[in-house]
Amino acid sequence: MGLLEELRSRLDDVCIQTDPDVVDSYSSDRAIFEEGGTAAILVMPRNTTEVVAAVEAANAADVPIVPRGAGTGLTGGSNAVDGCMMLSVHRMKEILEIDTVNRMCRVQPGVINSDLKAAVAKAGLFYPPDPASVDMSSIGGNVATNAGGLCCVKYGVTRDYVMGLEVVLASGEVIRTGRKTIKSSTGLDLTGVFVGSEGILGVITEVTLKLVGAPPPPATAVAYFDHLKPAGAAIVEIFQEGHEPSLMEIIDQACLRQIESVYSMGLDLDAACLLMMQTEGDNAGSQIAAIADICSKNGATFVYHVDDPHDGDMLIEARRKAWPAFEKMGKSLLPEDVAVPRDKLPELLAGITEIADRHDVMLPTLGHAGDGNMHPLLVFDGNDPEEVTRVKAAFHDIIALAISLGGTIAGEHGVGTLKRPFLEDEVEPTHLAVQRRVRDMFDPHGRFNPGKAL
Ligand SMILES: Cc1cc2nc3c(=O)[nH]c(=O)nc-3n(C[C@H](O)[C@H](O)[C@H](O)COP(=O)(O)OP(=O)(O)OC[C@H]3O[C@@H](n4cnc5c(N)ncnc54)[C@H](O)[C@@H]3O)c2cc1C
Repeated sequence: MGLLEELRSRLDDVCIQTDPDVVDSYSSDRAIFEEGGTAAILVMPRNTTEVVAAVEAANAADVPIVPRGAGTGLTGGSNAVDGCMMLSVHRMKEILEIDTVNRMCRVQPGVINSDLKAAVAKAGLFYPPDPASVDMSSIGGNVATNAGGLCCVKYGVTRDYVMGLEVVLASGEVIRTGRKTIKSSTGLDLTGVFVGSEGILGVITEVTLKLVGAPPPPATAVAYFDHLKPAGAAIVEIFQEGHEPSLMEIIDQACLRQIESVYSMGLDLDAACLLMMQTEGDNAGSQIAAIADICSKNGATFVYHVDDPHDGDMLIEARRKAWPAFEKMGKSLLPEDVAVPRDKLPELLAGITEIADRHDVMLPTLGHAGDGNMHPLLVFDGNDPEEVTRVKAAFHDIIALAISLGGTIAGEHGVGTLKRPFLEDEVEPTHLAVQRRVRDMFDPHGRFNPGKAL
């Protein structure tokens, strides 16, 4: 039997979609250069039993499976491969449990991050991971990419909150990893293996997440610098001095100018960059004042800090406006996602400027300065082949620069197909071979997401 017959023998018709236009609309993520294939069928299960049925049908028909969350990925991870079954978990969006005593929750993978945040906030709790796609991306996708965000500098990344998972394996078996307890030293940490696995090891069908107490209101500082280097030096000194910012973001001059041209926020357009920082806790005000002093000492041309959280929110609004401001240009956007150890940030920033000049490309830079995770944003005319060639060369050089500084090719967006050609530049051969053996062990027939991540 073909895939459709296999699916129909196991699932309700409402779970199966064959209309090519609909299937197509679920067949790609937001990665710009990554061409996906053509999927055969879209399956939209509502629960774990239906995921098992879909996986068994794909096995019987010998068809590859591409798991999909909300399709906001930036690396081609949930792009279709030819003839595959797209398995979208977008209907699995129930919050199954919020446990205030044990400070955890259990959710289906299709729950949107901001919906979970809002639900746990009603119980006086906080789920920290906050990718900028917080209103669009799914918890399952966040787990599968180990998503980061703005608050990682204090709270960590998605990995730090995943206590356990339910996963449908390639065999159709269901395993539950981890547990509800805060402590456990029983057996191997398979939860950790699935976090960041980009759909190549199985379908995540349930996630148990750690929650924390609601965060105290932040104090906020902003600092303009007329060169990138002293901003980098200030960042290093802030950590050297033992401060613990809960947010530390940077946008450069090209971002300032584009944001100003679209939103008229009164930004300083002569500055080389704007550093935005927040602190939380009992001494948030004194900490932010000390951080502001460090910025001044390192040559900031203008520094301002406030204790009022509402005023603080307005100060960091420019950071949130950066991506939408560039989208308004109507050009192609290719965001980079490299990360380096924090103390290498000044060299990374200087190197990115040099790469932009060398390849004559528009390369505004913004990112999570506190994590050493930068998103240089290539802005270009996608219909101009000569410009596209220069953009791709600059993209390669940024990756090479990050690796030369002891960094990583993928800070938080994952590998997908976009970064796969560079994997060997970062991960040494024996380590990579072991990772591939782990993949083969979970999925001996290469059923899940072939050609992605590893
Ligand atoms: C405007 C914008 C801003 C962004 N900002 C950030 C940011 O600040 N930080 C950040 O980390 N990312 C960011 N991203 C990238 C993206 O939102 C994240 O990678 C997100 O975690 C993807 O979630 P998703 O639900 O859209 O997953 P998808 O794109 O659908 O899938 C991503 C990967 O996970 C796999 N997958 C999805 N669901 C499952 C599942 N249930 N089981 C197994 N595998 C699964 C897919 O196969 C694929 O490999 C941004 C994207 C956009 C468009």
